[in-house]
Amino acid sequence: MDQSQLNEMCRRQLELSAVHEGESVVVLSQGHDRADYADAFLYAARSLGAQAYHMRLSTPQSSTGAWAVGESELASNPYAVEALKQADMLVDLAFLLFSKEQFAIQGAGTRILTAVEPAPLLAKLFPTRELRDRVEVGGELLARAQNMRITSPHGTDVTYRLGVYPTITEYGYTDQPGRWDHWPAAFVFTGAADDGVDGQIVIAPGDVLLPFNTYVNTPITLTIEQGFITDIKGDLDADLLHSYIKSFDDPRGYGMSHVGWGLDHRANWHGLTQFPGGMGMELRSFYGNVMFSIGPNNELGGPNDTPCHFDIPMRGASLFLDDEPIVVDGDLAVKEMQRTDRRS
Ligand code: FE
Repeated sequence: MDQSQLNEMCRRQLELSAVHEGESVVVLSQGHDRADYADAFLYAARSLGAQAYHMRLSTPQSSTGAWAVGESELASNPYAVEALKQADMLVDLAFLLFSKEQFAIQGAGTRILTAVEPAPLLAKLFPTRELRDRVEVGGELLARAQNMRITSPHGTDVTYRLGVYPTITEYGYTDQPGRWDHWPAAFVFTGAADDGVDGQIVIAPGDVLLPFNTYVNTPITLTIEQGFITDIKGDLDADLLHSYIKSFDDPRGYGMSHVGWGLDHRANWHGLTQFPGGMGMELRSFYGNVMFSIGPNNELGGPNDTPCHFDIPMRGASLFLDDEPIVVDGDLAVKEMQRTDRRS
């Protein structure tokens, strides 16, 4: 994709995100990453009549190699955070998610759009109003539920006690003050009460470990009691998962994080093989996945802010809200959430 195509795509994105004359937009990047995206968003914002500038953070000096969420240079730079709070919209090319600074910026009314995936994937899963509608149906169902049960033919049977934390929708653009979204995305999630997850999850061959960005080959059996993983059984994949969690030396890394399902029929389960360099948004979004997560729940307002985080989209699982089927064997069971080209 050349720069003019990227410019045009970002203009369509900011149009969906309701950027208009008189607004202010800040584009945040880090190091030398995604300078072309920064230029494209600046072009896009200005072409829609907004004021726009670029804030660049320095290249991180040290890295553990692990994907430690929620750690950002902004933590030691309150002046920059104050500037971002003044903007109507922040385009985040640096990945602030889970940081205290992101929550503070949202709290000031700034809407935030994260964009870090490869440009061909941004194009392939470009957001639509129709997808937003279907995601919002899911968000309403989830927000009303008190209990979630997930089952699978591989032996998963786990319950989440809901009703404590908010529900979050992601549909790839954002036009409301203080609201965050991630382009591309199409899923909904919430979290259980801190001690409200019990049962067993069997991560089956073909299910996905993000941020490893790999497909599991051998089943991993997790035992979960009162919101924490108490046992991890299996072969090589179980050892890898456990070794990674242990490396953070933080018991909260065994906590149960967000949970929900994916709705984008254009996203492919095999997507990780197609777009190297991304963080797996296609896998979080693919139609009928049931995704559970391990680690922090501060994104939902909870107390667990461990930097150890996994998102694990599963194929072929079933999800029930207060005993009503929502996803059945990897297919959406509620008509208003189903892909419109397949509705009968
Ligand atoms: Fe996550």
